[in-house]
Amino acid sequence: MSENTIEASDYQEIIDALMSFIEKAVVPIEQEHAEFLSDEYNVFDKRGLMTQKYRDINRQVRELSAEAGFYSLYGAESLDGGDLPASGIIQVQEALHHKYGPERTLIHESVIPSPFTNGLSPLLLKLKDEVLAPRLEDIRSGKSTLCFALSEPDAGSDVFNLKTKATPEGDGWVINGQKQWISNAAHASHAFVFAITDPEAVKARTGGITCFFVDTSDEGFSVDAGIPMMGKRGSNATIVSLTNLKVTRDQIVGEEGQGLNLAMGGISRGRLTMSATCVGLARWALDQAVSYANTRKTFGKTIGQHQMIQAKLAEIATQIYLCKAAVVRTAAMVDAGLPAVKETSMVKMACTEMAGRVLDEVMQIHGGLGLTNEMGLEAGYRFARTMRVPDGTSEIQRRTVAKRLLAGDTQL
Ligand SMILES: Cc1cc2nc3c(=O)[nH]c(=O)nc-3n(C[C@H](O)[C@H](O)[C@H](O)COP(=O)(O)OP(=O)(O)OC[C@H]3O[C@@H](n4cnc5c(N)ncnc54)[C@H](O)[C@@H]3O)c2cc1C
Repeated sequence: MSENTIEASDYQEIIDALMSFIEKAVVPIEQEHAEFLSDEYNVFDKRGLMTQKYRDINRQVRELSAEAGFYSLYGAESLDGGDLPASGIIQVQEALHHKYGPERTLIHESVIPSPFTNGLSPLLLKLKDEVLAPRLEDIRSGKSTLCFALSEPDAGSDVFNLKTKATPEGDGWVINGQKQWISNAAHASHAFVFAITDPEAVKARTGGITCFFVDTSDEGFSVDAGIPMMGKRGSNATIVSLTNLKVTRDQIVGEEGQGLNLAMGGISRGRLTMSATCVGLARWALDQAVSYANTRKTFGKTIGQHQMIQAKLAEIATQIYLCKAAVVRTAAMVDAGLPAVKETSMVKMACTEMAGRVLDEVMQIHGGLGLTNEMGLEAGYRFARTMRVPDGTSEIQRRTVAKRLLAGDTQL
């Protein structure tokens, strides 16, 4: 059966070309390294960091994707990216997770990077030419990658509780502090590092946090460990130490003291993308549930003929459909330049929570088989569970929505 949604038509050619590239170029690499990739002791070292061989395989995929024109699909045209609008990004993201499910990390992490924290991030547009120009080609081609270092042990939801300080020295600053949960820091060549430059403004919660662009090879930037997460030996999320890291005024991203505004703008982009990821993941799970319901027999009939299983399938499909419609509408608002802070928070909360419920029910439909990882459902369940925390927790999304409503933004 074909993709028959009205809104898919605009981007279907891009999606078809992307899928064809993945099948021809990436799937063979997965197959070649299947045994290696199936053992997480090969993927993560003792410190929870990704091993050199795993990183090399990812780099190979990134560079192939860049050559084929997909790696920078989400990047701005002025950076020579594909300039896909939000409405296109959500469809690509949904299609990738619908087709490939949760465990194909080479596809999900290396074919197209996160639309904000890595690759041709829009934050690069805020850099001085002399800083960006010598690095741009390597970023565009996937040779070098980026990370986004905002969160800290005491500052996740409450970003104004940051402790990392940039102390003035000569014409620049010296940064000291610790960052936590930073995705890709162990492999990145460059980092967006957020530090306090005006403690009084931070105390007043009006600003005072500056974003600096640093090379991770600079003295004073070090990655301590990967963080084991949800039953895994490690993860891409890391702990980073900043020790007397020297930065100059030229390294400021955007304006001094305005780092959080930049961060929040980008995180909104991440929220929408993550919502589409959850819609795709839930559809992948639903497909498996339908197929199993049509084949597994109990009490002399397929389980799909039991009303309770039918009700579950109908409920799952309805939840996915409503979330998908909300993601598509919100992306259209973003593309039209309309404010969509409340809407982006609503869809991030709704889609990430929906994916968790759907994976849980699909596992239940599979009985004991659902608890094994025979079909990737258990991995999907763990993946869906993690989605409710990064880029703002479910509680923070509710807080944002309520604040907007109480301030008079009741438009729906
Ligand atoms: C896999 C992963 C990848 C990540 N990648 C990055 C990255 O690349 N870069 C980066 O900078 N950060 C990253 N993060 C950090 C992420 O943004 C934070 O974990 C998140 O913002 C939550 O912060 P916290 O963990 O400190 O929880 P806390 O902020 O301590 O929250 C604890 C609990 O209290 C609730 N809570 C907090 N404040 C309120 C409130 N006002 N009202 C109601 N409830 C509240 C929260 O919802 C949560 O349930 C990542 C996290 C994960 C898990």
